[in-house]
Amino acid sequence: MDGKSATTHKLGDGEDNMKETRREILKMFGALPFAGPDRTPEKPRPFPVAFLMYHEVFAPALVGEIRTRIDRGEKPLSLPTLGWFLRKGKNLPEGTYFLVTCHDGRASQFTEGRKAVDELIKKTGVFIPLNLFVITKFDDPNEPIANISDETPTYSDGVNRFLTKGQVVQMLKEGHVAHNHTVNHDRNLPQQPETMWRGEIETAEMRIQALYDLAGVPRQVKAFAYPYGRVSSSIETFVSERFDLAFATDPPATIHQPSQRFSFRRVRRS
Ligand SMILES: [Zn+2]
Repeated sequence: MDGKSATTHKLGDGEDNMKETRREILKMFGALPFAGPDRTPEKPRPFPVAFLMYHEVFAPALVGEIRTRIDRGEKPLSLPTLGWFLRKGKNLPEGTYFLVTCHDGRASQFTEGRKAVDELIKKTGVFIPLNLFVITKFDDPNEPIANISDETPTYSDGVNRFLTKGQVVQMLKEGHVAHNHTVNHDRNLPQQPETMWRGEIETAEMRIQALYDLAGVPRQVKAFAYPYGRVSSSIETFVSERFDLAFATDPPATIHQPSQRFSFRRVRRS
């Protein structure tokens, strides 16, 4: 990522910026599995990433935000890529990044989110995967995923519409990424007994993996989002032993320390 840095981009040069960004991203992704022999971990350095947190998605707003960020020289980061760098103890290449996270599995992430991604491919040539933090309750938290019909919603709250099982599997096949967001999305997880919060995380983990297995797609990163961003030190320790990274919420931040990878802060967009 050396040479042409974001600062060399001229304002109002949007299409060129996007082509340049695309080259840099492809270079970085392409280098991933073959980045040479592992060296000793580098001295950890803080890095700038806006972890954008969407619930409902409206395609024009998402496209607008991403184009604006690319236009000013920010680069889209994928969660598998970030997970890889963190696991290896390496620093991200210099740059300012953004990453789109979609929470709770709202149905608009399938309709509007995919529409936005298609439009961005047409305009920039870059596929920007959506990171789906899905609540895996379905009708029955004990039913094996394989027995659940494709039309069954991942969750229901009596108000909003949620992704169905079939939609999540389809999005995985399309290259989007799904992550653990517990089974019941309990607002007060840190106040629950340990057996309860462990079960919430472990059952959701089996279910997320089962969705990947159904899609026939390997899972490249294990990420977790605490329900409502609420976490205790014992939950964070438990999560740190099983995941590559995790998201909390407050206070929002865009500069992150690798050592805080189990409570990265998100920036709310919807
Ligand atoms: Zn949530």
